[in-house]
Amino acid sequence: MSIKAAQLAINGGPKTIEKVFPWPIYDENEVNAVSAIVAGGKWGNPDCGDEVERFEQAFAAYCGSKYAITCVNGSVSLRLALMACGVRPGDEVIVPPYTFITTASSVIECNCVPVFVDIDPDTYNISPAAIEAAITPRTKVIVPVHFGGLACDMEAIMDIARRHHLKVIEDAAHGHGAEYKGKKLGSIGHVGSFSFQSSKNLTSGEGGIVITDDDELYAMMHSLRNVGRIEGGQWYDHYNPGCNYRITQMQAALLSEQLKRLEEQTQRRNANGLYLNSLLEKIAGITPLVRPAEVTLHGYHIYIFKYDASKFGGLLKNDFAAMLAAEGVPSFKGYPHPLYKQPLFQNKNFMCYAIPESVDYTGAFCPVAEQACHTDAVWILQHAMLGDKEDMEAFASAILKIQEAVG
Ligand SMILES: *Cc1c(COP(=O)(O)O)cnc(C)c1O
Repeated sequence: MSIKAAQLAINGGPKTIEKVFPWPIYDENEVNAVSAIVAGGKWGNPDCGDEVERFEQAFAAYCGSKYAITCVNGSVSLRLALMACGVRPGDEVIVPPYTFITTASSVIECNCVPVFVDIDPDTYNISPAAIEAAITPRTKVIVPVHFGGLACDMEAIMDIARRHHLKVIEDAAHGHGAEYKGKKLGSIGHVGSFSFQSSKNLTSGEGGIVITDDDELYAMMHSLRNVGRIEGGQWYDHYNPGCNYRITQMQAALLSEQLKRLEEQTQRRNANGLYLNSLLEKIAGITPLVRPAEVTLHGYHIYIFKYDASKFGGLLKNDFAAMLAAEGVPSFKGYPHPLYKQPLFQNKNFMCYAIPESVDYTGAFCPVAEQACHTDAVWILQHAMLGDKEDMEAFASAILKIQEAVG
């Protein structure tokens, strides 16, 4: 081993960064808010306080949307949105393959067919041209994912949806607080879906929410979340399918406090992301993703850069990512393969008969998503993007240290 290789933290050398980046971030405000609910003894529905409604109204107002409906997580929120959009068994829903599983498995749960279309190599967001090419008479919904908190090309996507009479559900699980042309993500399509799972930029440990401006979609999602009850109806009268997907008053109290921090945190990640771009652009073999001009605020749930092994002595991406994490940069190699490669899709373990026999994912291949997974994409996680300027400089130093050691 060379002297420089021996200096790498993964080989027992000193770490570039000793600092710990905390997440979640909270103080006595969160503790007091939750304690007050616990002490009050009104923890959940029915008729037990208005914490949930208060948070829903605050989140809808923050996003510039008319309605918000909380639910148990950011996977169920996608299912509520799909069901409310009126999908029927066998309908097709267009999704990207470079995302978390439930963007696509929520479609399966509705007895519908996820159709995977490739991502754009500059942004890793779903490609509008690929969406257009995948539309068939059975297509009902497009689910763009604002990957990493970077807004999709919403103008192009909404235009496609208008021309083909499709609904758009924004999967904004990475996009709390982020913007496209000054509009909060989730507020542009017919429904916006968010997760409050513990890794997300706004969290209550678990939880989810949908937002919409549409009165009918609101009424249906509200009903599906509440075991098919309707507003103003009797407790034991059920009109729609759905289930009990409600959150507790404690979660809502926590979220209301966390929401007060979101805008400042989003601004900080955004500023750090811009600065980190300027630093990493200068390193051979490192290319930050492109930020289109329409991205007025980036959520940086994940800061992503593309890695070129040829500038790192042929070091495989996964080994590079492990070295970077060992140096103290909260980072990760990302998804191992595009979603259609998951056993769920390869083996069609759908447990339902409404999906046509002809559906087959064994030949699916989206070259940009494949390349992102296998060779190119490296992630720096959102809590690291809440650091200061010196931390961003240290992230760049850690990459340069690895490059010098292996080059
Ligand atoms: C986290 C996530 C979800 C699911 O949210 P949960 O609250 O974990 O169920 C959906 N889509 C994307 C893109 C996610 O990252």
